[in-house]
Amino acid sequence: MRKILVLFFLISTISLTIGQTKKVHLFINNGVDTLDPNILSVVKTWDAYLKSNPDSSYDNPYWLKSEITKYKSFDLLNHSWFYPSLYYLMRYFRPSVLSVSENKDHYTIRTLFANAPKSDSGSINTLAITEVAAVKQSGKIKLCNILQFNTASWEREEIGSITFIFPKSHRFNRLLAERLSNFVDSLAVLWNLKTKSTEYYFADDFDVVAKALGMDYRMGEGNKIKPRGFTDIINGLVYAGGSDEWFPHEFVHIYINPLFPDANSYFLEGYATLMGGTGGKSFEWNINNVNIYLKKHPEMSALNYTGIDYFTGPEYTIGALLCKMALDKGGLKLLKKLMSYGKGENNLYKAIKDVFNIDKPNVDKFIRAKLDEYSSKK
Ligand SMILES: [Zn+2]
Repeated sequence: MRKILVLFFLISTISLTIGQTKKVHLFINNGVDTLDPNILSVVKTWDAYLKSNPDSSYDNPYWLKSEITKYKSFDLLNHSWFYPSLYYLMRYFRPSVLSVSENKDHYTIRTLFANAPKSDSGSINTLAITEVAAVKQSGKIKLCNILQFNTASWEREEIGSITFIFPKSHRFNRLLAERLSNFVDSLAVLWNLKTKSTEYYFADDFDVVAKALGMDYRMGEGNKIKPRGFTDIINGLVYAGGSDEWFPHEFVHIYINPLFPDANSYFLEGYATLMGGTGGKSFEWNINNVNIYLKKHPEMSALNYTGIDYFTGPEYTIGALLCKMALDKGGLKLLKKLMSYGKGENNLYKAIKDVFNIDKPNVDKFIRAKLDEYSSKK
């Protein structure tokens, strides 16, 4: 779900840093032993990679060839969670190497991405501490994803098109896994699509999965353990935590987002929430909850309310309601029409006008009435 989260955190910091140079400068923190030739070589490779325009997908000479071949977009850490990407955000959050550790079969590079909200304050605002691996191949250091090392001891179970990958401490629930596999098969049939091979990394705590991928720290870490997840649509990978084998929301993204890459987030998140719930709760539970909340807050905009849940905003709940209404009114054909409207608020209002014939000044009243109607349908 929530790549937008990072952008949300950025709002307060971008304006303070926008004037900074976009040139990459990798700072090496005191204490990193660059007198050791192996560590120096690892740091130099990482530095060269960060300067090599890593956001562009190409046969990057600093990355392990087998991973470039294996994945459509080989640097999993860059684009899976961060929006628009980690290396894009480097222009706001400067990288500093904190440590290079030598393990049995790889090196681990830990890097801080941070900025100073106020110059000379001594305070820093941290986007992430990442871990990228490096290995020696034919005498040369090559970078690679740390996910394979961090999950080497995890269990793998294949059910239908999904490979479930989870820590050994988790007891696999085959019934739930089959339920998810059946859900995916039905979704593919409904949309006339072929099923896709998907790897699903999950654990009881989302932070465990985030750290396995290489986010040793990320903005938003900690807090209450609740079901959360995100999707690497390009490579067919799903990550989730606080969940179990049944996590349909992200799988809706795997199938539907590529069909409508420019669709408004209200409809992409909305349809995923309608079909697969969000935050561990169903569509019905969510709209009932929003309905109760908005009745207590007549001053808020139903389309842009805030304050219920830090991670689940109106693009999930109100978006799901709009998708449900479109399906009830005109089936998949009308839902596809909703998906044809682009990003941003103007497109959202245009979609509501075209599909439901409601002018902008009446949208709030319309949504509140529909929330009431659909809540009572439970
Ligand atoms: Zn989502």
